[in-house]
Amino acid sequence: MKKLHCRLLALLLAAVLLIVPVHAAEEDVVIVLDPGHGGLDSGAEHEYDGKDVYESCINLKIAQSCRDYLEENYVNVKVLLTREEDVKMSLSDRVAFAVEHGADYMLSIHINYSNGYADGALALVPRGRYRPEQAGASTAVAEAVLAELEALGLQNLGTEVHTNSNRYPDGSYKDSFAIVRGCVEANIPGVIMEHAFLDNAHDYYHFLSTDEQIAALGVADALGLAASLGLEEKPRIPTSAELGDTPFEDVFEGDWYYDDVTYVWSEGLMQGISETEFGPALPANRAMVVTLLYRMDGAELEPETSGFVDVEPGSWYHAPVEWALENGITTGVSETEFAPDRSVIREQFVAFLHRYAGCPAPETLPEEFVDWNEVSEYARDAMAWAVEIGLVSGYDDGTVKPLRELNRAELAVLIHRFHRWTLEQPGEPIN
Ligand SMILES: [Zn+2]
Repeated sequence: MKKLHCRLLALLLAAVLLIVPVHAAEEDVVIVLDPGHGGLDSGAEHEYDGKDVYESCINLKIAQSCRDYLEENYVNVKVLLTREEDVKMSLSDRVAFAVEHGADYMLSIHINYSNGYADGALALVPRGRYRPEQAGASTAVAEAVLAELEALGLQNLGTEVHTNSNRYPDGSYKDSFAIVRGCVEANIPGVIMEHAFLDNAHDYYHFLSTDEQIAALGVADALGLAASLGLEEKPRIPTSAELGDTPFEDVFEGDWYYDDVTYVWSEGLMQGISETEFGPALPANRAMVVTLLYRMDGAELEPETSGFVDVEPGSWYHAPVEWALENGITTGVSETEFAPDRSVIREQFVAFLHRYAGCPAPETLPEEFVDWNEVSEYARDAMAWAVEIGLVSGYDDGTVKPLRELNRAELAVLIHRFHRWTLEQPGEPIN
């Protein structure tokens, strides 16, 4: 029942707070990476330093690195691999996989083989007579990926078109490589990227001989794909060095909360108690914490009346109190009072954050804390969740001190961690 209530509340919050854009899954750019060959078909192979090197294994590592980089750094992308293991897969099944998953782009990953002399990267692209738009989109991404591979030091051999004597429905010659042709027929932009030449010693020792080198090829693919497909970068979390000094004369480098205060101040989440003081040891009160959450949310209310006798209309915390009330973050301490000056204890504040986050259910209760039984019933899920996500880690003596009053330094620490956590969540701001 309680959980259901929380879920309803979360839905309500989502409805009220439509000001934040929410990424629907349909908006994701779907990229299918196709590590060429696999299983008994190992692709190109060559012997170096007494061991055989197989193209199929390198292709898979490039694809995995590319996927990892895309998923780690961009928000609106879904990356799928046609194969995750060393297994055989037909060329038509690979294209069918891209069709089935609604691919916006298919990059087939290969390593070339020649006669030991050729080196560099090249892309096999559609000719484009039959479907010029598909070919244009295919080639644009290929060129962006080639530019990234060139930046790594590979020779850029550009794009190549190969056709055979068969014909597309419009009478033009078909592309000869099955993946390229299959993408044209399925009308999905896609190319074959030949990253380097396996039998060229220069290419091998510079780009293919270690996992790090191979991973770098995957990152280059990712950067090219991201740039040309317009992927949206995840918000980057600035370091305190980048954020710079605060104007506060009572917060010193070396204080355990220095980085946290710098962060919350620079992000506009907390202000000082004056132009030059942060007041780290001062207790945090209810007016402060609702104001802080209100700011983090980016809400802008202009309430005219106040539901509480102790919340003056027009006071700095008037709108935040009304917002917190509307959004179920907290209620008054009685029907008529909010108690803005009352100090806040740890479990209370954690419960506020938990509600703000939509009441995610914890997996277990961290009963290893020696004072876990002091956590109030209403705050148990919240406290367990806070421990799970690393918001609260407990003290050296094995306690979690639920009833301890928060001071402003501790508030800054919790808000810093919470804000970072929200940024790391997939999609747009929780809530
Ligand atoms: Zn190949």
